[in-house]
Formats: sequence, structure tokens, C-alpha cells
Amino acid sequence: MSHRNKATFRDAGAVDTQTASSPHTMATGEQLVQRGVAPSVAGLKKRHAVPHDICGVAPVEADRIATLSFDMENVTAPFANMLRRVILTEVPTMAIDRVLIHENDGVVLDELLSHRLGLCPVAAPAEAFEFLTMADTPDFASPSPRHVLRFDLDVAVPNEPSAPPVTNVFSSSLQWVPLPGQEALAEAKAVSLVHQDILLAKLGRGQRIKLQAYAIKGLGLAHAKWAPVSACWYDMKTEVSLTKPLTGAAAQRVVEACPTNVFAIEDGAARVRKAEKCTLCRECVKVENEDLGVVVQKDKTRVKFTIESMGQYAHPEDIIRTALTTFAARCRNLKQLVGECDIADPKA
Ligand code: SF4
Repeated sequence: MSHRNKATFRDAGAVDTQTASSPHTMATGEQLVQRGVAPSVAGLKKRHAVPHDICGVAPVEADRIATLSFDMENVTAPFANMLRRVILTEVPTMAIDRVLIHENDGVVLDELLSHRLGLCPVAAPAEAFEFLTMADTPDFASPSPRHVLRFDLDVAVPNEPSAPPVTNVFSSSLQWVPLPGQEALAEAKAVSLVHQDILLAKLGRGQRIKLQAYAIKGLGLAHAKWAPVSACWYDMKTEVSLTKPLTGAAAQRVVEACPTNVFAIEDGAARVRKAEKCTLCRECVKVENEDLGVVVQKDKTRVKFTIESMGQYAHPEDIIRTALTTFAARCRNLKQLVGECDIADPKA
């Protein structure tokens, strides 16, 4: 590939290229702000404030990349689904969205390289940034520290026989360059790439990649690269109960019928001990055509909720907190709108 004299801007959100003046991302952010979908979460310093009050259960793990499971009680499936959708689409994160490529001699094309950069999770406090809107002219020559994180990458392989024939370029080569006004973030070491070992490209002898990548604040609603989780799901809890006491041979039969050891015999009687292990196979409901009085059903008010965080947030529970705060803000907006409506009473 030939060296380029002219730097080119690439959109890191999709494989198809767009110019730097494309309004795609900015328009989306503005629309979300106008709709109240993306309220500011600045000032919410108190971790655990919302999720623990509502969920009442401490997280299983508190690492940056972790699976977090918790139980919710007195909630319905629509509420759990609402939380799932808000987490996937409306919890803001920072992600690379514009790439200024000065030189790229590698085999990975500019568009694909930009796309790969966009999918590298960026660990940064999204609440410290603002969404780009149409009113904020994106000036990447002198970017605003309120909107943009800048990363530089410059990897050159010498054209010498002693150089390796193939050099891998990993995400660790992306260096965050704090802008004037981002000194506090630098001091707190608050910005980095979540993974240092993502393979971005391969270079041969005498080849070079030099680029600047700009991360902006966005939502999973616009592109999955801004989603804070790789997976997010819920499951209604299973309730197993015995409608009559089972003792002796009947207790033994129900214990042996269950392949996941939900039942145990205590004090000579069968008891439900591990209902969470139930797979709803219904083997215990009728054993050898005998109704043992076992009731297996879904509890429609208890939910087990699980997320797998991508690492943009310092703790996975922060994702839950932000999602609930966002939903609460939307409820307040709706309440205000309804209060402002002049709705006639049909019975009047
Ligand atoms: S439905 Fe199956 S897994 Fe659940 S308690 Fe009965 S036998 Fe065990």
C-alpha cells in the first residue's frame, strides 16, 4: 500500500465510510437530549444509592469486567424488561467515533481499522462529559475537553532485515492524550482502554500506522459500541412448594425424582431446599403416576437480573444505578407532561 500524504477522517461507528462532517452521531445525541432520554448524571457521586435501595442485594462481584446478578422483589416482568432495555440503550459511555488517519500502510483498510477502534471499550467517567449536539460544531482540530477524548497511535516498523516480518499492533499502542482542561482526569488516571491486548492490525517491514482517534459520549441506542454490557437478561424466579407433608417412602421418591437436588429430607420429611436449581422439568409433580402434592411455578413478582459489564464503568453496579436514574428522570418528565396537559374528564 502506498503512503498517504493527506490525512483522512473515518467514522468509527460503521464499516461504511462517512466524512467528518457527517451529522449521524451528533443528530442522534441531540435527539436523545431533546427527548430527555439522556439526562445529565453529573452530581450522582453516591454509588449504591439507587440499586441497593431497590434491589436490596449487594453485587456478587465488583470488578470492572464482571457478571453481576441480583434479585428484585415485588417487581413485574415489564419492569425488569424496562431495566434491561434502558441498560442496553440508554446508559452513556465513551467510545471512539472519529478517526483521523495520517498514515496506514497495513493490510487492514482504513474503514476496518476505524471500525475496530470504535469497538475497543474505553474506560472513562461518562458523567464528566457532554453529548455532542448539532449546536456543538465538532472541531477535531481543537476539540472540546467537555466532549472529546483523544487517543494517538503511531507504530512504525523499521525497514531492516533485523525487524520482524510481521508486527502486531495492539490496542495498548493507543495512548490517551489529555486535552487542556482534562488535567483532573489525568491526575485521577480515570481514562484508559479497558483491554490492552485487542489486535488492531498487522504491519510488515517499513510499514507504519499513524492516527488520532476521538472518543465521544454516546448511547447504545445509536450504536452497540456505546452499550455498557455485553449481555443483560432476567429470569422470573421459580417457586417450588409442597402442599402436603411428605414422609417416609413418598419423601424418598420426591427426592430421587428431582435431577437437580431441589429437595432434601430433614427430620424425616421432604423439604424444598434449593428452589433456584429447579429447571421446570416437572419430574416431581407426578412420580409413578402418583400426585405428590408438589407445585412448581414461576413467581411473577421475583426476578433474578444479570448483567455482564464491558468495563467502561468502574463497577457494574454503577450501570444499574445510572439506568435507574435515567428511568426515574423519564418518569419525572412524563409526570410533568401529564400535569401540564389539560385532559377533560369524560364523566364530566
Ligand atoms: S420440576 Fe424438576 S427440577 Fe424442578 S423441583 Fe421438580 S423435579 Fe426438580
